[in-house]
Amino acid sequence: MEQSLVLIKPDAVQRGLAGTIISRFERQGLKVVAMKMLHLDKALAQRHYAIHWDKPFFNDLVKFITSSPIIAIIFEGDRAIETVRQTMGATDPAKAKSGTIRGDFGLNIQHNLVHGSDSSETAKKEISLFFTPEEIFDY
Ligand code: UDP
Ligand code: MG
Repeated sequence: MEQSLVLIKPDAVQRGLAGTIISRFERQGLKVVAMKMLHLDKALAQRHYAIHWDKPFFNDLVKFITSSPIIAIIFEGDRAIETVRQTMGATDPAKAKSGTIRGDFGLNIQHNLVHGSDSSETAKKEISLFFTPEEIFDY
């Protein structure tokens, strides 16, 4: 069993797409084992996206992700990391396949609705940024 950290980004929460997005992951057999709504502060946003600190889009990305509340979820399942990435689709919605979350609903490369961990190492790091062990359910 694997776990992946998913963030439903400000654009998705504002557009009322949280339920649809959660449902898409659930339909792939992924199970919610932790979930919370939160308004990210700049410090946590910068830590979460630390890998991108030197990219030209970093400051705008931090502004966007801290602009209004998000929903953080841990999904668990066999090959959860790859399944989440496939269900999300490519980073740029213009290139994401139809049938993926970003392909069907994403507006542009920044406003692309969801985050999902990209490796098991990243998933562990990201999960520990957002959740304590007591907040993660085993059922
Ligand atoms: N992003 C952006 N401009 C870019 C590339 C990425 O605004 O040119 C944003 C976008 O919201 C993306 C996030 O930065 O989801 C993280 O980028 P990454 O390459 O890690 O994409 P992801 O893993 O989310 O598919
Ligand atoms: Mg990424």
